[in-house]
Amino acid sequence: MADNPVIFWFRQDLRLTDSPALVEAVESGAPIIPLYILDDATPETWSMGGASRWWLHRSLESLGKSLEKIGARLLLRRGRAAEIIPQLTEEIEASAVFWNRCYEPYAIARDTRIKKSLTDRGADARSCNASLLFEPWEIATRSGGPYKVFTPFWRACLNAAPRPEPVPAPESLAAPEARPAGDRLEDWKLLPTNPDWAKEFRDDWTPGEAGAQARLADFLEHRLTGYADGRDRPDRSQTSRLSPHLHFGEIGPRQLWHAVDRGRPESDKFLSEIGWREFCHHLLFHCPSMPSDNLRPAFDSFPWREDPAGLRTWQRGMTGYPIVDAGMRELWRTGWMHNRVRMIAASFLIKDLLIDWREGERWFWNTLVDADLANNAAGWQWVAGSGADAAPFFRIFNPVAQGEKFDPDGAYVRRYVPEIADLPDRWIHRPWEAPEAVLSEAGIQLGTTYPMPVVDHKTARRRALDAFREIKSD
Ligand code: FAD
Repeated sequence: MADNPVIFWFRQDLRLTDSPALVEAVESGAPIIPLYILDDATPETWSMGGASRWWLHRSLESLGKSLEKIGARLLLRRGRAAEIIPQLTEEIEASAVFWNRCYEPYAIARDTRIKKSLTDRGADARSCNASLLFEPWEIATRSGGPYKVFTPFWRACLNAAPRPEPVPAPESLAAPEARPAGDRLEDWKLLPTNPDWAKEFRDDWTPGEAGAQARLADFLEHRLTGYADGRDRPDRSQTSRLSPHLHFGEIGPRQLWHAVDRGRPESDKFLSEIGWREFCHHLLFHCPSMPSDNLRPAFDSFPWREDPAGLRTWQRGMTGYPIVDAGMRELWRTGWMHNRVRMIAASFLIKDLLIDWREGERWFWNTLVDADLANNAAGWQWVAGSGADAAPFFRIFNPVAQGEKFDPDGAYVRRYVPEIADLPDRWIHRPWEAPEAVLSEAGIQLGTTYPMPVVDHKTARRRALDAFREIKSD
């Protein structure tokens, strides 16, 4: 078996550095087939949304080039991973398959099946952790259960630190004599064409490991100082924007852990956000139905409204509340939205429009380049108040006050809602209150060039609190 090849299966770890399973594959001494499978076919899979597919195409392109530099070629296959892995193993008589673990419930179930079918065939199946600081089961309360509150969870993580140093990228991969046939990336048609709604994505993002490293270097040099306060300001570009790179595993959290000066308040704040990512994965692992079910069952009887027209105004950034509209348009144009604005926009959908958080979760899933099952579901349930350690439902964001506090000069709104850009700062977050003369000076005709608010926030707030009173307590 010594000369039989092994398969390295890339999944959400599209990088060469700090990939423990890749190192193990190299150490096996066998020729390596690097493989990526586009698996839209496994039932229960949350298949990737449009924005993520755009990212995936670019990221695989970049990975393919990096592999070529070290003597390997990426094999692409499409279909059910649970069929493709055993078939390919037989086809090339592979002695082992290596991968880094994913923690989505469907991925765990699928990989467990694959492991069994490989061992039944006499092949080895080896997996490692590359995408979390701690495996979701490693951190437990004193009674051995999962954490439901972030602060003690993160404290337990910090007490369990230090984390291993990242492992270097292999210098070369031994190539097999024969190469199995695979797909062409272009044939997967992951990029939008007619229309090309992703054309602005190219200006904002460089998917791939080199792009992730450049983003990290830029963050450390220009944005980390002042991060603790600045991270809440959508008008400043103070956060790392590493989320899609982390989701696709173009960089891993251990690399971030070792890149910052721990003990410095700014660095510790940044690492605590990485801690939130860990917490979301911990929650998803222990509550696998989190993407579809309320973590607090009391919310099962919440009287959500069916409001397709309201949902559309929100999706299109036409609610008449500038900070919400700016966020929703930033999302559509760039595939990303600032965290503070995600909270404001989510709160507006759930509490001002009384639309089920799962509608928002689905829209984000399709439009975010960083769409991540754990972070997205936990984020939505956090805002709804139905999740673990969540904001209470009765704390309802006022979109005007939030805009004025976190985008005080309206620079963010002006960037994404150009039709009201000429309003003076005083009215930029409340155009419907501006005097007629100010509106006309700014070239605005409310209801025509920019919408009137789709709901009155004060009335909507009362309606939301009344609805909340209707639900049973847990
Ligand atoms: P930074 O501030 O630079 O933080 C560094 C990293 O920490 C991020 O890249 C991310 O991986 C992690 N992180 C930061 N904040 C959070 C958080 N609240 N929860 C979990 N991880 C966090 N994040 C996603 O990666 N994918 C999603 O699908 C997603 N959906 C969300 C939906 C809602 C309704 C909300 C409120 C938040 C959501 N988030 C999601 C979390 C957060 O908004 C983004 O991770 C963050 O805005 C990414 O920007 P950044 O990389 O510049 O963050």
